[in-house]
Amino acid sequence: MARIFVLAGEDSVAARADAGRVMAVETELARAQLTRVARRDPKAVDHQMPMAALHTLAPNIDWPAYFHDIGLTAAVARVNVDEPAFLQRVSALVAARPVEDWRAYLRYHALSSAAPWLSFAFVNENFAFSSRFSGAKKLLPRWKRCLRATDGEMGEALGQAYVARTFPPEARAKAKSVIDDIRAAFKERLMHLAWMSDSTRAHALDKLAKMGEKVGYPDTWRDYSKLQVADGPFVLNVRNADRFEWNRIVNRPGQAADRTEWDITVPTVNAYYDPSKNEMVFPAGALVPQTFDPKADAAANYGSLGGSWAGHELTHGFDDEGRHYDAQGNLRDWWTAADSRAFDKQARLDAQQYDGYIQVDTFHVNGQLTLGENIADYGGALTAYDALEHALQRDGRPGLINGFTPEQRFFIAFAQSFRAHTRPEELRLRVTVDPHSPDRWRVNGPLSNMQAFAKAFGCKPGDPMVRPRDLVPNIW
Ligand SMILES: [Zn+2]
Repeated sequence: MARIFVLAGEDSVAARADAGRVMAVETELARAQLTRVARRDPKAVDHQMPMAALHTLAPNIDWPAYFHDIGLTAAVARVNVDEPAFLQRVSALVAARPVEDWRAYLRYHALSSAAPWLSFAFVNENFAFSSRFSGAKKLLPRWKRCLRATDGEMGEALGQAYVARTFPPEARAKAKSVIDDIRAAFKERLMHLAWMSDSTRAHALDKLAKMGEKVGYPDTWRDYSKLQVADGPFVLNVRNADRFEWNRIVNRPGQAADRTEWDITVPTVNAYYDPSKNEMVFPAGALVPQTFDPKADAAANYGSLGGSWAGHELTHGFDDEGRHYDAQGNLRDWWTAADSRAFDKQARLDAQQYDGYIQVDTFHVNGQLTLGENIADYGGALTAYDALEHALQRDGRPGLINGFTPEQRFFIAFAQSFRAHTRPEELRLRVTVDPHSPDRWRVNGPLSNMQAFAKAFGCKPGDPMVRPRDLVPNIW
């Protein structure tokens, strides 16, 4: 931090003092926040109130000036404050800490967010700081940084070019057909769940039927014609793009939610489930080999796209967080008390399973922090395996490939879809902040719970990849 201040023109004594101020403010703010585990409860971060109540909650912040300066002109009557106690604490800190602390804090954040787009000295210093936490040995090549910046700032413009080259309509149709099979398999599992009552089941089936999906790319692309891109300092183009995006969204309060919008860009290798829209989204960047290949063996596609992607995202609608939202995406309890208790009991088994895994060194995985992702990984694997078995019955059973049966190929593809290399520094950071378990356990966790896996590879009770039946959670 001090080095960034020096690069911005401070002498080393002032820079060191300012870095100390930033650390002190950051530490206070971090202490005032809920833990990541506490934030997993959607009710813990849902506090709707009239706009005027902000003044009572945090009187030392000039709210009208704040909203004016960020460009809010829409008439807003109500707000939702994630963490009221945090806002109260910020207000108290504003009064308690000298203005020099806040100046240093804001200056540092302005500098560090611009640093990747400034001169080499800033770029390298920024990298030196972040690599302490990621373990990265060298800066990404310039072309990759440019590509990422373009994707981040004008992703839907880049996405159109990306789709034209990589994702033909046949691939989209084929991916959708795998996702359809996953939906059908999950529905089947829901109908036969022994622990769930018929009344909760009816709501769950309704939620599944109403779950939306977006596959590949948006039907209408974002219009960037008003975004100014000019020759000159790169950082100014980044700032223009950030401003363009802010202006696009700042006056949305009061308008109907735009259900056509995508929260990630098309070339992204990721997917998500949005509980407040009850929809799952799979961009074209995720629907390419290692995840999905329309020409590949069906068993492999069910293992990767079906299991670790589609089945995973679908199950998020019913994990420890997602289950609190209804078919319309509203936070509303549709569970009977007994079914909620049954779910929690099985979820505790799931948390215990992952608490037992080592993340890195002597750090264990946090089973509560990673609960939703672990439920989704296991539900995804179970559902996709059912879908594979249905498909084999429907379409015929192909022979061995490289000596492997379709079931073995399914599990191999599931495991391969998590291939990654993560450095120990990054794993240490993720112990406390990442809701996903390390990739190794995202594979071995679900598969060691599955009797179908043991059968496919001839594992016996007591083998490392066979978890004793009484310790295996039974959720979806
Ligand atoms: Zn997930």
